[in-house]
Amino acid sequence: MLSKHEQDDTQIAPLYGSRAMVAPIPKWTLAEGEMAPDAAYQIIHDDLTLNGNPLLNLASFVTTWMDPQARDLMMEAMPVNFVDAPEYPQTAELERRCVSIIADLFNADATGETAVGTSTVGSSEAVMLAGLALKWNWRTRRAAQGKPADKPNIVTGSNVQVVWDKLARYFDIELRCVDMTHERTVIGVPEAKALIDENTIAVVGILGSTYTGEFEPIQELDAMLQALNKETGWDVPLHVDAASGGFVAPFAYPDLIWDFRLPTVKSINVSGHKYGLVYPGVGWAIWRSREELPDDLLFHDAYLGEDQITFNLNFSKASNQVVGQYYNFLRLGREGYTRIMQGLLETSAHIADAAEASGHFNVISAKDALPLVTVTLKSDEHYTCHDLSDKLRERGWIIPAYPLPPKADDVSCLRVVVREGFSRDMADRLMEDVLRAVNALNARPPAAPKRVRHTRKAQAVC
Ligand SMILES: *Cc1c(COP(=O)(O)O)cnc(C)c1O
Repeated sequence: MLSKHEQDDTQIAPLYGSRAMVAPIPKWTLAEGEMAPDAAYQIIHDDLTLNGNPLLNLASFVTTWMDPQARDLMMEAMPVNFVDAPEYPQTAELERRCVSIIADLFNADATGETAVGTSTVGSSEAVMLAGLALKWNWRTRRAAQGKPADKPNIVTGSNVQVVWDKLARYFDIELRCVDMTHERTVIGVPEAKALIDENTIAVVGILGSTYTGEFEPIQELDAMLQALNKETGWDVPLHVDAASGGFVAPFAYPDLIWDFRLPTVKSINVSGHKYGLVYPGVGWAIWRSREELPDDLLFHDAYLGEDQITFNLNFSKASNQVVGQYYNFLRLGREGYTRIMQGLLETSAHIADAAEASGHFNVISAKDALPLVTVTLKSDEHYTCHDLSDKLRERGWIIPAYPLPPKADDVSCLRVVVREGFSRDMADRLMEDVLRAVNALNARPPAAPKRVRHTRKAQAVC
């Protein structure tokens, strides 16, 4: 039985007058007693206000704004475990519809085959799955030729996202990277060709480099591979890492040919939580046909009452992201996505023009690519990109500074990713603050300008 004072404390005391708000809370071990839900909510809510503000986080590609109706639907889906397809057949149905819609956006109908795919937690899981399928298919080809299959490699640019380093390390694949130069910040086709041999499980083309937003020359990579395969009798496929660009290109650049229309493109990954416009985490892995999926990697189970096939690294996961993805497809349609992508590109072009006009920056991102702006400093004698990034953080803006990929990494850049929810007006506020920060740094240069070199562990193999 609680004493009168204790009852008052949990039931009627002013929230910030309650003991929970005054006494220390256990941080690293489980609390002995209970706490009123309002107090627990408020303590954690207040703690989280020390996070950066997602609206001002121009570092991330990941969605920070959705329609309130999408939020409602996603909250309703919270108790539903995605993997329980027999119990929740309608959620599974929404995934099938999403896969079909995305395969269609990637022009899978051009192949005359039926594309297959799965939802994932993000592009990282999708890359792991695609990489495993590529490795298995290569092994099968090698076995058919009676040749060893113990030294697989994969060819990418040194601008790949860290997930490709992970894939290589986790699954014993040698990562062969085409180095960047100051003039070429995407993969070079002849340079990639030179790294390919009979043990190459795939070449990766990136639709939307994380560093500069540029689209890699996918069509040229495909042409090179077609010719090389013909000449050598190999069967080296192309995988497209369209994590960012997969939901930009079909709407903003419908004439760009980068997808299943190209015969060597066997699989594509895309992040639903980037320009698919869904809160994290959802991604998609799509294969041009069922034949690209080795049976060996598909698992059957019947724990949940019916035979079901899965190809995922996780078992249980949330279903709200798949629901959110389908909401966007239904709500926006081709017109809605096109309008949003065009708007984001207009805003990023506006920022690029303002940066150029300021006289302080070189814009190294392209306008016909992802809606982002990457700049280098015209002169970094007195301060560096890293100093400017720190200075902008004082106003709440999160704008990352980082070195370009190996071996262009003696140059650092700043990147602004434009996402849905970032208006032209906010872009103007941003540029005012950038100029204010530049003036402050020029007036009072830091004693020791901050410099950072590339830290990618895999650099040794690149
Ligand atoms: C973001 C990104 C990834 C990783 O995707 P997640 O969805 O965050 O797991 C992989 N490749 C590229 C090119 C990316 O931009």
